[in-house]
Amino acid sequence: MSTKIFDVIVIGGGQAGLAVGYYLRRAKLDFIILDNQSQSGGAWQHTWPSLRLFSPAGISSLPGRLMPASKKGQYPHRDEVLRYFADYEQHYQLPIYRPYRVTKVQRDNEHNGLRVTDGTLTWLARSVVSATGTWSHSVIPTLEGQELYRGEQCHSAHYAGIEAYKGKRVLVVGGGNSGAQIYAELVEVTNASWVTREPPLFLADDVDGHVLFERATARITGNSEDAPSGGIGDIVMVPPVRVARDKGLLKSIPMFERFTKHGVVWRDGSEEQIDAVIWCTGFRPELSHLAELNVLEADGKVRVKQGQSVKEPRLWLFGYGDWASPGSATLIGSGRSARENVAVLIDYLARVS
Ligand code: FAD
Repeated sequence: MSTKIFDVIVIGGGQAGLAVGYYLRRAKLDFIILDNQSQSGGAWQHTWPSLRLFSPAGISSLPGRLMPASKKGQYPHRDEVLRYFADYEQHYQLPIYRPYRVTKVQRDNEHNGLRVTDGTLTWLARSVVSATGTWSHSVIPTLEGQELYRGEQCHSAHYAGIEAYKGKRVLVVGGGNSGAQIYAELVEVTNASWVTREPPLFLADDVDGHVLFERATARITGNSEDAPSGGIGDIVMVPPVRVARDKGLLKSIPMFERFTKHGVVWRDGSEEQIDAVIWCTGFRPELSHLAELNVLEADGKVRVKQGQSVKEPRLWLFGYGDWASPGSATLIGSGRSARENVAVLIDYLARVS
């Protein structure tokens, strides 16, 4: 009996996996995409209900197919992104299988390839693309007294909108775009404060999220002279954030010192009762399925050159952030890194065949 060996197995069916799939399809390679969700959308299906992109549709498209202009203003709503992804998968007939959660990738010396398993089924491939994103690996800092605190805590990855917080005293922690947007909607309906370690940095009103992508690219390609100034985490003034600013509500306060059983202690020593803390404190790459390949560095990332693992040439990484490829955790960047790095992957497969 012959053993089926795919050219490529892509793990993860979010935007990075779809963009890679587009170029693999175009190159007529034999591949599948395994995704652990029950439907399309990757991380977008878990974002909060009011979320809008910080980049307009025209510059948020995946390769080959434009995202339709938003019916709800300049910045598409999350649900419009979800519809676009579902349509994209169908249009290009991408071979996505759900839900399959890959638990392990191992070397298969007999077939000179990599073996992928979800614990029950096993697939073989000449190369593996890991595009599992960061959503399932949210980061919450550790603070003194946190174990005592009896109030609610929630990471932005699980924030489901304003309803659960009405009438409560809420702290939104984190000075990036998620923190700004969640705070902006909560402060309209409840007693919320925005808590940040450093004062947040705001982009000008007429600058959108495209600038964040340009900066990331310039920083990595070394053309930083031409790059717009500022950092990748700067806040895009999407409409709800602008509304809060115009009302004089968009103010942050410095981080509290520690938790108590019912609240926090501020820097001046005063104590306050707090009902809920929402952590908008970021994500780390989800790479536990690669542990057996011994490619994970001390910082939890994989060393890559043009997306290809330096230690395991049959392994490729897409999405995740600048370390995998400039701006690759943005919609526009996922398309560009797929265009550039899938070409290198295709060359590699041709060379080793
Ligand atoms: P994901 O979307 O997370 O997709 C990975 C997929 O792999 C998921 O379906 C996941 O469930 C699956 N998976 C994970 N582990 C496994 C496994 N072991 N086996 C099988 N499947 C697995 N970018 C922009 O360009 N514009 C914006 O306006 C914008 N706004 C954002 C707002 C928020 C709040 C956040 C959090 C991000 C935003 N981004 C934005 C950034 C970026 O577009 C997203 O983070 C994007 O979802 C990353 O895509 P991805 O495909 O790498 O990962």
